[in-house]
Order: sequence, then structure tokens, then C-alpha cells
Amino acid sequence: MEAVRRKEVAIVGGGPAGLAAAVYLARLKRSVAVIDGSQSRLANVPRTRNYPGFPDGIPGPALLAALREQVSRYPIDHVGAQVESLERTSDGFRLAWPGGALDARMVLMATGASDVPPAMPHLAHALRTGLLRYCPVCDGYEVIDLKVGVVANGAAGVQEALYLRHFTDDVTVFMMPDAPALDAAEHARAGKASIRLAAGAVDSIREWNGKISVRHGTEDTACDSLYSALGLRIHSNLAQEAGARTDENGYLVTDRHHATNVRGLYAAGDVTLGLNQISVAVGGGAIAGAAMHLALARAERD
Ligand SMILES: Cc1cc2nc3c(=O)[nH]c(=O)nc-3n(C[C@H](O)[C@H](O)[C@H](O)COP(=O)(O)OP(=O)(O)OC[C@H]3O[C@@H](n4cnc5c(N)ncnc54)[C@H](O)[C@@H]3O)c2cc1C
Repeated sequence: MEAVRRKEVAIVGGGPAGLAAAVYLARLKRSVAVIDGSQSRLANVPRTRNYPGFPDGIPGPALLAALREQVSRYPIDHVGAQVESLERTSDGFRLAWPGGALDARMVLMATGASDVPPAMPHLAHALRTGLLRYCPVCDGYEVIDLKVGVVANGAAGVQEALYLRHFTDDVTVFMMPDAPALDAAEHARAGKASIRLAAGAVDSIREWNGKISVRHGTEDTACDSLYSALGLRIHSNLAQEAGARTDENGYLVTDRHHATNVRGLYAAGDVTLGLNQISVAVGGGAIAGAAMHLALARAERD
């Protein structure tokens, strides 16, 4: 076990939210460490076309590499590890990971969320080629007038299909075997919007002839793109253990400065409620970083 490090701010998570906050804090002359498990959702983005400043879009891994490069220009400690505990101390927090620990006056949770993937072979390839998608806000534009499917385990599938109907007339919802039955109102909403509800539960999903094919009951339906509406796992458990409040979906609740209800504990990006987007994560990281600096400065004056 290495000696316990000490920083003014510890940032848990090195995606767009955490890395943006790190740059802001370092430029505000704060000592910072980023501890990152290296599972950013950004690494799965084939090419983002709605992040401002890149007219032809930019692949997620390239944007992540540029953000990391920017962080490396400042004296910011980067620890590649999964933080396993976060405890309050008399003057801040102690974070620990296998083989290491750090004391910090303030902590930013930028731990993001992860998509619940559908079971299918060659998932990474399907994501890269846009056969499988997770986020209609991000890439609904890419499926205009295409044949689109939604795989879901309940009413969220109808919601997502209604959103996608803005982009295409051809939307089919496929339900997983354990999905609760839709009620009459949901059937009516789908029917009114000409959304097809596939007969039979999903048996398997695979790439087939440049399409994504869903076997449901005894039928196979091929789509140009399939959206997964199976949900997100919100990585808020560490903060919850330290006393932070979450909403009913597990998102950390913050004020407009991105402060949680725990003094000194902030949160930004997909782990907080809001639009799960890169620009929002970067903006949240910036706001949190600036607010943490001010709170530290206030404490120094008092
Ligand atoms: C397929 C796909 C396409 C997308 N397309 C777009 C798009 O076109 N435009 C757009 O704006 N958004 C898009 N998004 C969403 C975007 O990727 C996310 O909104 C963004 O990455 C959120 O940033 P974040 O920093 O909050 O979280 P993340 O980028 O997920 O980073 C969180 C980091 O925290 C780390 N972490 C978690 N827990 C711990 C722990 N206990 N200890 C240490 N580290 C931890 C993780 O390993 C990870 O590195 C897409 C997402 C997907 C999956």
C-alpha cells in the first residue's frame, strides 16, 4: 500500500465531466487528482456529430484522447484505479482503491453511468457500425427514414419509439421475455403513432447481411438500426454511501453549482439527472470546478 496522498480536490471518474473539471481546477491553481476506472461511455461513441466545434464530427475515443492530453499539460495526478470507498473525515474525505488512498478537502463524483446492453454476438462491432444504438438524441438524425427497431423490457420501449417516430415512419418495438405486458393506454399510444409492437418476445439478436435482425417468437425482423431501451446503471453508489441524496432513478441530486447535500461533495455528468450528453458533462464539470474553487477560497478566508 502506497502512502496516503493529499490533494485539495479528488475527482472520481475521467470522462468528459471529470476531465473538464480537472482542467478548470488546475487552471485555478488547485491541487487535483483524477482517479479513473477507464470505462467512459465516450469510448463507445463511434462518431459524435452534435458536440460543438467539430463540423465533421469526431470519434469518441479521439475526443477522449484529446481531453486526456489537455489534462496532461497540467500538474494533475492521474490514477488508473476503481475507487472502492469514500468516507467523510474531519476535514474532508478519504478515498481508497486497491493499493492506494487519498485525502481530499473536496470530491467531485464524475462516475457516469453505463448502458445495459442487449445480449448479442459482436456487440462492439454493432455499436461501431451504428447497427446498435443507445441514444436517439445523439444519433436519431442518422436514422432518418430508415427501418428502426427498439428493444425494451416495458413501457420505456414505447416512449423511445414515440421519440424515434419524429425521425422515421418505420418503428417496431421488440419486448424482452421478462417484460411486463403493456397496458391498454400504451397500446393505444403506439397504435396512434403507427408504431408496430412485434409479436412474441425477443429470442435472439444478431447482425445479418448488413442489418440487425431480431428473432421474436417464430419470426425474424431485420432493421437498419436497433435502439436499446434497456436502461442505464447510474454509478452513484459510492456517493450514496457517503450520504448523498439520489432521485428515484439513482441519479445524484445537486444544486445549480453541482453541489450535493453532503458538504464538499459535488457531482457532474451522467451520474446527475439531466441530458446525458458530452456537452452537458463538460459544462457540468466546468461549473462544479469553478464552484469548488470558490468554496475552497471562502473556507481559506474564514
Ligand atoms: C453509443 C453511445 C453514443 C453516444 N453518442 C453521443 C453523442 O453523439 N453526443 C453526446 O453528446 N453524447 C453521446 N453519448 C453520451 C456520452 O458518451 C456521455 O453523456 C458522456 O460520456 C458522459 O460523460 P461523463 O464524464 O459523465 O461519464 P463517462 O464518460 O461515462 O465517464 C465516467 C468515468 O468514471 C469512471 N468511474 C466510474 N466509477 C468509478 C469509480 N468508482 N472509480 C473510478 N472511476 C470510476 C468510469 O470508468 C469512466 O471512465 C453516447 C453514449 C453512447 C454509449
